[in-house]
Amino acid sequence: ATPTAIMVGTGNGAKAGILIRNAEALERAGKIRTLVVDKTGTLTLGSPTVTDIVPAGGSDEHTLLRLAATLEQGSEHPLAKAVLSQAASTGIAPAAVTRFAALSGKGVSGEIDGAPYSLGSPALAAERGLNIDQTTVARLQQQGKTVVVLASEKAVLGYLAIADALRDSSVGAVKRLKAMGVEVIMLTGDNAATAAAIAVQAGIDRFFAEVLPQDKAAEIDKLKAQGLVVGMAGDGINDAPALVAADVGFAVGSGTDVAIEAADVTLMRNDLASVADAIDLSRATLRKIR
Ligand code: ADP
Ligand code: MG
Repeated sequence: ATPTAIMVGTGNGAKAGILIRNAEALERAGKIRTLVVDKTGTLTLGSPTVTDIVPAGGSDEHTLLRLAATLEQGSEHPLAKAVLSQAASTGIAPAAVTRFAALSGKGVSGEIDGAPYSLGSPALAAERGLNIDQTTVARLQQQGKTVVVLASEKAVLGYLAIADALRDSSVGAVKRLKAMGVEVIMLTGDNAATAAAIAVQAGIDRFFAEVLPQDKAAEIDKLKAQGLVVGMAGDGINDAPALVAADVGFAVGSGTDVAIEAADVTLMRNDLASVADAIDLSRATLRKIR
């Protein structure tokens, strides 16, 4: 595109809350045929709440929530915030934790009163050789909820289901992107059953689930290796390598500084429709030179 077209395009973008880093990003955006979208915080609101507390192995709701909140004190994860605010609103004060560890993409662990506990994905519990109630887990996941498992060293003490609602704008934005010839693929560290339920709600036909934070960029590289021009939209620190790997990375809305730094385009509005706007803007800019 001509320098004038680029300037006009960039200026129009800025007016619409679409901040484009450079001319190359503006030109590439219009060629995107595949858009990978982070689930948590991008498709969904990113403010999950605890919806179900299911004790197991002789535990009770109060104990389960107290132990879970105790472990989550040291975590920055949105799921941790959900657990801590549920505990607070039920008047449960977390206890002290030692040997705390955050297990990236899996959960948290630590010792309470000298005994080890873990809280995390069903995959983490399985990894630790724990026996999971698959029926309970599957029932909750089919509702689009994330299930985390609280366990002692030897036994599962219960399950917490945590729901994160879709943004109102997500369904319309996905529909619009599809109509523009852009395939939308959801990317998440969450399990496949939860991902499938959310994908159906959002109108998304394809997703990559149970992807560890360090593997997200590799999923983008695989798509690029198929010759596709790939966009990636996300907001988290976890998403930064994938935003860099993509042909065009979009940092969405209230995104972290790390995501914004990694991205080619920053969207002021926390809304997937802005990605569609950016692609439209690029296509219009490219048309002006032909
Ligand atoms: P996402 O791609 O949705 O941001 P993450 O990679 O951050 O997902 O986490 C993947 C999964 O690991 C979560 O769905 C959850 O099961 C588990 N997990 C990660 N962090 C925590 C935590 N602090 N507490 C409980 N579970 C966690
Ligand atoms: Mg995330």
